[in-house]
Amino acid sequence: MRPTVLCFSGLDPSGGAGLQADIEAIGAAGGHAAVACTAITVQSSQAVYGFEPVASSLLRQQATTVLDDLPIKAIKSGMLGTVENIATIAELFEQNTIKAGTPYVLDPVLVANSGGSLGDAKTLAKAFARLLPYATLITPNTHEIRALSGQNDLHDAAKALNHQGVKAVLLKTSHDYDTGDIEQFLYIDGQIAHTSIVPRLLGEFHGSGCSLASHIAARLAMGDDIIQAIVAADRWIHQTLICADKPHADAGTQLIPNRFFHLLSTHP
Ligand code: PLP
Repeated sequence: MRPTVLCFSGLDPSGGAGLQADIEAIGAAGGHAAVACTAITVQSSQAVYGFEPVASSLLRQQATTVLDDLPIKAIKSGMLGTVENIATIAELFEQNTIKAGTPYVLDPVLVANSGGSLGDAKTLAKAFARLLPYATLITPNTHEIRALSGQNDLHDAAKALNHQGVKAVLLKTSHDYDTGDIEQFLYIDGQIAHTSIVPRLLGEFHGSGCSLASHIAARLAMGDDIIQAIVAADRWIHQTLICADKPHADAGTQLIPNRFFHLLSTHP
């Protein structure tokens, strides 16, 4: 069995983000994705129009069925949609239904890149506190790290989360500045354990955060340590963005990462 990651994420019918991003990113790493669906969203590649969360009892049944069936080597969560869904996943950890020590990448999704609502951001940010101690790594964007920590300075925010018991925080500065390189810092125990700088690509991307977090989860499932997994995922995500699809010709169109760039006859 390929190393299997159980993802908790929402359906994005445009195929850019959410569970499709997870399946493709994990498949591209050589893993197998199992998905417990948390919500069905109504969205295009450009904007979110609404969503219907999955009942937490149904979410629990999806997860326990797969946990009984497949050798789950890592967990990844993205859009969870409701406080009840967050509580359900926390219970799976608390009751050891998800085995202690299983690597867990938590992408604390609060709002879409386009700005669309994927739940009540304030309430969700508070509810995430119950899940954070189980995470091997969290991958917040700049809005999310501020909402989770209550700190405005990004580095203070990462350190504050470490001090609150989050093992590792991948701080991504991509939303804060419009120009210049994108810097990433991995914080462990309040210290920078790894830094990477990637050149900024032109444009906004729909589903890049989901793809990165899932690829990291797949690499952890295969036995990489956190830094190895991040280095591999950074290299991979960069190619998906270079080769991203542009659904509309207009300026400002959100691009969809091409997670199958290796199938292009020529790729950079
Ligand atoms: N999950 C779902 C279902 C979404 O629809 C979105 C964004 O639209 C996200 C997660 C977050 O996407 P991104 O990777 O662009 O932050």
